Amino acid sequence: MVIEPTRIEVHPDCEAVVEFDPELTFECVPDCTWCCHHGVLLYGEDLRELAQREPLNDAVKQLRSRDFVRREEKDRDEHVDIDDRACYFLRDDGLCALHAEHDWKPTRCSVFPLEVHVEHDDIHVSIREEAHAHCEGLDVSERRLVDHLNAFLPRLLWELDDPTTKIEL
Ligand code: SF4
Ligand code: SF4
Repeated sequence: MVIEPTRIEVHPDCEAVVEFDPELTFECVPDCTWCCHHGVLLYGEDLRELAQREPLNDAVKQLRSRDFVRREEKDRDEHVDIDDRACYFLRDDGLCALHAEHDWKPTRCSVFPLEVHVEHDDIHVSIREEAHAHCEGLDVSERRLVDHLNAFLPRLLWELDDPTTKIEL
């Protein structure tokens, strides 16, 4: 099926060009945690927000002058990647410590399973390729992604020099 890109206002004066099927639905499946196996890129604003909630020393690592949430080895069979590592904030019970204890998470965690790229100064949004194979939350509910884009795409993305989300630890 060919999807016609559609321009949608996500926040006042912040539009995104949506490149996925508008009928696609999403609801995060709590036991999945696949997207929490990756290191998370932190934007400057995320780093400031995180510093108000948690000590940064153990949690954050710098790579190529950018800040990421560290991955660490977890002593468990579940909720880990093939190298037994997962996000520093992924708790043993499969919940995100930041979300569960602070009702907050980094921008890049909100964006998943979407992917952002920029074309001619416009933010374009598609479904991250790996999400089709690994994200268990696609098409399991009645909640259409296009109706809730403001929950996935924080306004901060429109303020960044480069909101592209293909950068990983
Ligand atoms: S991969 Fe999808 S369903 Fe699994 S935890 Fe992440 S967002 Fe939720
Ligand atoms: S910060 Fe939380 S939501 Fe983001 S990857 Fe880590 S555990 Fe998952």
